[in-house]
Amino acid sequence: GQCSAHCPVGAIYENDETGKVWAALGDKEKYPVVQIAPAVRVAVGEAFGYKSGELLTGKLYSALRRLGFRAVFDTNFTADLTIMEEGSEFVKLFKDEPDKLPLVTSCCPAWVDYLEKYYPDLIPHFSTAKSPQAMLGALAKTYYAEKNKIAPKNIFMVSIMPCTAKKYEISRSTEMCASGQQDINVSLTTRELVRMIKAAGIDFNNLPDDKADSILGEYTGAGTIFGVTGGVLEAALRTGYHLLTGEELDNVEFQDVRGLGGVKEAAVNIKGTTVNVAVAHGVANVQQVLDKVKAAKVAGQPSPYHFIEVMACRGGCVSGGGQPYGATDEVRRLRTAGIYQDDRLAAKRCSHQNPEIQKLYKDFLNQPLSEKSHHLLHTKYQARPLYDR
Ligand code: SF4
Repeated sequence: GQCSAHCPVGAIYENDETGKVWAALGDKEKYPVVQIAPAVRVAVGEAFGYKSGELLTGKLYSALRRLGFRAVFDTNFTADLTIMEEGSEFVKLFKDEPDKLPLVTSCCPAWVDYLEKYYPDLIPHFSTAKSPQAMLGALAKTYYAEKNKIAPKNIFMVSIMPCTAKKYEISRSTEMCASGQQDINVSLTTRELVRMIKAAGIDFNNLPDDKADSILGEYTGAGTIFGVTGGVLEAALRTGYHLLTGEELDNVEFQDVRGLGGVKEAAVNIKGTTVNVAVAHGVANVQQVLDKVKAAKVAGQPSPYHFIEVMACRGGCVSGGGQPYGATDEVRRLRTAGIYQDDRLAAKRCSHQNPEIQKLYKDFLNQPLSEKSHHLLHTKYQARPLYDR
């Protein structure tokens, strides 16, 4: 790992959990399944000689099947689902309880940890929607298990994430056991996956493109842009517009929330109603936005923003701590371009248009924010003490 390269005695190694995954893949009692996060597909290629940003979703699915996973799911599917739940949460507050705004995104576990320690008074503003990783874990061991008649305890769910904080998220609380089991068994980084592909002798560059498994695999452009700063907010605006007006957007691209600017603000006009949004990435920028929200609260004024997206990593998950090393701003831009290319190529670009999401609500969850959705897809936050130093 990076640390070991800098540690003079080589005493610091990153936590490698590939052993647990190899064991599950070789265990006949287990039914190993896997999900991949949006940002993995535009960075994994760097380990195999591709340029940064090369979109390799189909080869990734192939590689995961060759490693022995029985089903290959896509976290982009549950990114669409997060938007359905969080977007509905936003629209409900915006219409009925605007005093409770801003709504703040909660899919970045490093940010959740920071908020619980440093801004506990803002916890009521946090979206209760779980992250896409967590939602997929819960659904694999309930909805998918039921439909395919597999005992949830035999399903071994692995997630491939651009992120080291996602390893902490899966054990955050009992909330991550919505299925009655630990919803996600192991969370690997992109780098750990690369090591597994190489160890298995898979010729990644010559793999054919494969598809993800139904019923947790189909995704829209809105799901894939979760991998970049501004993407969650843009995806939420695409569906929020539909929920507020009953209509579809002509132009789904919100350029004001894109790019590497530290704090991006926009006043979005939704048929005559203004929605004020802010996007922050990197901790210093986050403080700037939250301090404005706190100052307005203290002064008894309405929040300057209705909806805020926060990501701990500069550029968002494309340059997360689990990605191939060496992310410069140039690398961030290339990986980001790959994500926006995936969005443009998508047949559908808004989460509510995803046919598998529509089927999930019809067959299983009923509707966004239903009792079942609350049980499986939402979580709680709590103030946590800072560690002794
Ligand atoms: Fe993980 Fe960084 Fe993405 Fe947060 S922004 S989820 S820490 S990769």
